[in-house]
Amino acid sequence: MSKQTFQTEVSQLLHLIIHSLYSHKEIFIRELVSNASDAIDKLKLLSLTNDKYKDLGADYKIDISFSNNETPLITISDTGIGMSKKELSENLGTIARSGTKKFVSKLSGDKAKDSNLIGQFGVGFYSSFMVADKVEVVSKKAGMKNANGWKSDGKTGFEIYDAQRDSFGTTIKVYLNKDGLEFANKWQIENVIKKYSNHIPYPIYLHYEDKTGEGDEAKVEDKIEQVNSASAFWKRPKSSIKKNEYNEFYSSFSNDTEKPLLYMHTQAEGTLDYTTLFYIPSKAPFDLFNTEYKAGVKLYVKRVFITDDNKELMPSYLRFVKGVIDSEDIPLNVSREMLQHNQILSKIRSNSVKKILEEIKKMSKDHDLYAKFFDEFGKPIKEGLYQDYQHRDELLELVRYKSTSVDGYTSLSDYKSRMKSEQSNIYYITGGTKDALVSSPLLEMYNQNGVEVLILDDEIDEIVISSIPSYDETPLKSVNHSDAVDDLKDKKDVNPDQSNLKPLIKKIKSHLGDQVKDVLVSNRLTDSPACVVADQNDPTSQMQNIMRSMGQTKGMPDIKPILEINPNHKIIKRMKDMRKGKALENLSQILLDQSLLREGIVLEKPSDFVGRLNQILEKTL
Ligand code: ADP
Ligand code: MG
Repeated sequence: MSKQTFQTEVSQLLHLIIHSLYSHKEIFIRELVSNASDAIDKLKLLSLTNDKYKDLGADYKIDISFSNNETPLITISDTGIGMSKKELSENLGTIARSGTKKFVSKLSGDKAKDSNLIGQFGVGFYSSFMVADKVEVVSKKAGMKNANGWKSDGKTGFEIYDAQRDSFGTTIKVYLNKDGLEFANKWQIENVIKKYSNHIPYPIYLHYEDKTGEGDEAKVEDKIEQVNSASAFWKRPKSSIKKNEYNEFYSSFSNDTEKPLLYMHTQAEGTLDYTTLFYIPSKAPFDLFNTEYKAGVKLYVKRVFITDDNKELMPSYLRFVKGVIDSEDIPLNVSREMLQHNQILSKIRSNSVKKILEEIKKMSKDHDLYAKFFDEFGKPIKEGLYQDYQHRDELLELVRYKSTSVDGYTSLSDYKSRMKSEQSNIYYITGGTKDALVSSPLLEMYNQNGVEVLILDDEIDEIVISSIPSYDETPLKSVNHSDAVDDLKDKKDVNPDQSNLKPLIKKIKSHLGDQVKDVLVSNRLTDSPACVVADQNDPTSQMQNIMRSMGQTKGMPDIKPILEINPNHKIIKRMKDMRKGKALENLSQILLDQSLLREGIVLEKPSDFVGRLNQILEKTL
């Protein structure tokens, strides 16, 4: 017998699980059954594709028994692939997936939420320690001679020892503590299995004793009952499935406690035979923006499970979709590399994307529902705009933005329907929070003219939108750029006597030096003295900030903003008469700095700005 200690993360997790996640204790049954089912999946696939394992298959099943005498116990046994000695200690003593730390940091302290996370994250086996003082695993790997045991109290470590098992597979004995006593009960086990594991494709048999009669007449009989339906749910005819059954199936395979927003079931026959059943969850999974996110779609071939960690079954912007693809035409022994180039699969995938986008479009007719969807999954949909050129038009119909004219979100098509007859562009502003953007001086002229501007307050918007020239033949134009107002109104109207300002502009330029690309008279301002814009072909300041934070501007020349001044503003009018010198230099610098600040740009030396401001305040007091 050898004693080993748990990997540090495992100890941390065990502690967390035992002490904070016990409001959904029942899930330990779901987790152990799901592991048993995974193990049978693996063996089944091998027996169909590898001659060495050909004769091993056949009796695929999961047996559960319990005892509620002085040693309360639940035993779960499977005829799956089993584990070798090494696998026992690796699979049950370490956490292979590197996202563990992230998982731990995601825990909220809200017990219901956290226990749901365990399911999503797949640290399922350890959940048995919520109800047990001791867990024993005896396993024999298919094709090997000897069985091995693993046992632990779930505290510091585990022991590995030689053990006996007739046939391959795994038996897990959960020695219940007082928190787990309630599960040594037929009714409880049956309920939990019906609730979470009804569609596990292998029969789950529950063994129990049936007592009849009293006193001398009493008889005890051993009985066995299959408690799950064990069918491939998605193969049932669509017309025979009710909405609540779709929802139940969703919760049984996703571990999500909330109902899905949408489901779509396709049973295709003809050139390609396949079934897909997809769901859109109502909440984004915690790892949505983690590069190590868990794939949501499982691949089956003729109902045989092939893989649940192939991220190429869906484009990454649809990674929030959960469900199954079951093909009749792909060979069973398809390898990961073969999947990548498999024509059938890529056809199924492209049909699926089309279908999913269509269904989302349909859902968008329900504004409240769609707002909910977009709050959760708007970002990945926007990613699709630059990832999936082929479906860009469909995706442009699905994106929503805030706007100066409506509460909540608007679609681009609704924006178009509100456009003024003389308006030739769709305008948008980027570079900050909604509150900052709506009060930006760049919007003054648009507001005055009653022209709607889209408020793109999501960091990803700026990057995405600059790759999209137009929507439905109407150009998209950023108000952050110097030429955006050109077609808004006749310039002469708002730009009186430009030449009059030439000397001032010259002075400001010499004071600001290479901090600006140019100083121009603005035709877009009404209330503010100045603003900064980007040259037509340059990225905006905020965009530069983003690129810089991603380390992308290294070696690139620093791109400078253009300062625009408002000829009708009192400050500018007063500055016109000032001579070159310290006072004008301070004012020029303050104009530039305040314009940058209003764009949400962090000043390099805020103390200089404050110093100048105080000098001016002193004079006015
Ligand atoms: P997950 O199922 O997400 O991988 P678990 O904590 O539930 O995480 O299980 C850890 C690992 O232990 C599994 O990946 C598997 O390799 C192994 N394992 C657990 N239960 C069994 C079983 N009944 N038969 C074979 N292997 C198992
Ligand atoms: Mg598991």
